[in-house]
Amino acid sequence: MIRLIDIGVNLAHDSFDADRDEVIERAASAGVTRMIVTGTTVTASARAAELAASRPGLYATAGIHPHHAIELDAHSIDALRALAAQARVVAIGECGLDFFRNYSPPDAQERAFTAQLELAADVGLPVFLHQRDAHERFTEIVAAHRERLSGGVAHCFTGGPAELEAYLELDLYIGVTGWACDERRGAELRAAIPLIPLDRLLLETDAPYLLPRDLEPKPRSRRNEPAFLAHVLMRVGEARGRDPDEVARAATANAEKLIRLPVGD
Ligand SMILES: [Zn+2]
Repeated sequence: MIRLIDIGVNLAHDSFDADRDEVIERAASAGVTRMIVTGTTVTASARAAELAASRPGLYATAGIHPHHAIELDAHSIDALRALAAQARVVAIGECGLDFFRNYSPPDAQERAFTAQLELAADVGLPVFLHQRDAHERFTEIVAAHRERLSGGVAHCFTGGPAELEAYLELDLYIGVTGWACDERRGAELRAAIPLIPLDRLLLETDAPYLLPRDLEPKPRSRRNEPAFLAHVLMRVGEARGRDPDEVARAATANAEKLIRLPVGD
């Protein structure tokens, strides 16, 4: 069986508190043997790192999501730097810009984003990037730091061919979620999926969010989980007109390369 890596799962989220072990087991049964647990605040990143250290196959990111950018204080970056020193913490993020909701004011978002890009450059880790309704500013900021960064992934990419081209020019990996399974909202993305070079493609669920719309049967809870990455893989394979196994092998190798995981761990 192909072994998949879910590069973005919010496994420390409290919706998994009651059955986290079962969720991890179901993922493994579906071929998802390794996962990167997303950190979204300093506290959540500490939880993600702790979870990652507690089991084989789990890794974590350390960062502050743009929604929480306003929480950045004098100690935040030092706290993230300390987390980044842990062996299982493999990327800085998620960080970026989200002008769709502006839960944090745009200037606070830019400050937190820039500080995390600088941290990633300092510690030599790749970045796990979030962008919504902020493509142009996001691209400018990443471009200004790109030379010093070891690498990065545009996580939960939902854009069309033009956005894709801009991110490929920045030499980013492209993270595709169950958004690809949405006939209506995912139309632009589905046009871009065949254009993603095979050596740039990554797969993620963003669980518990983004339950694939066309999943049958759907869990009653409507909670997404990493086991459903196999479904995302199938849809990505279809959109590319390629064998899912070929896509899976490439995505796994790409993740191993980006975050420097031991091959086939
Ligand atoms: Zn995100």
